[in-house]
Amino acid sequence: MITDVFCKILNGELKADVVYKDDDFWVIKDINPQAPVHLLIVPIRHFLNIEDFHKDEELLGKALIVADKVAHKQGLKNGYRLIINEGDHGGKLVPHFHIHLLGGKRLGPKLVKE
Ligand code: AMP
Repeated sequence: MITDVFCKILNGELKADVVYKDDDFWVIKDINPQAPVHLLIVPIRHFLNIEDFHKDEELLGKALIVADKVAHKQGLKNGYRLIINEGDHGGKLVPHFHIHLLGGKRLGPKLVKE
């Protein structure tokens, strides 16, 4: 059985601050925000990574549409940043595909910190 932290949130085992839900995605507030707005776009079905979407490419595209919709709902009219951490070198911690949505201030020019 898959028991990553996002599955637990989606199953109701763990609480989260959910800002958006539809049939395919939940968007939750990151527990350790790195910007004034830091949300996570999480598919309800368990996908480990981008490769896992090879039969569901439309759903992967929908994740971006959901992110943009939520960004507008959050009032991020001056822009936002989307990040996907993949694998060990990418710094992925939770083994359940998700997209970080960051905004609410002018973000630094660098994608990575040392
Ligand atoms: P990543 O490195 O892309 O796997 O990032 C996982 C993210 O999930 C981190 O930014 C964590 O702060 C966040 N996170 C971990 N546990 C929770 C939780 N219970 N609720 C909300 N966000 C979480």
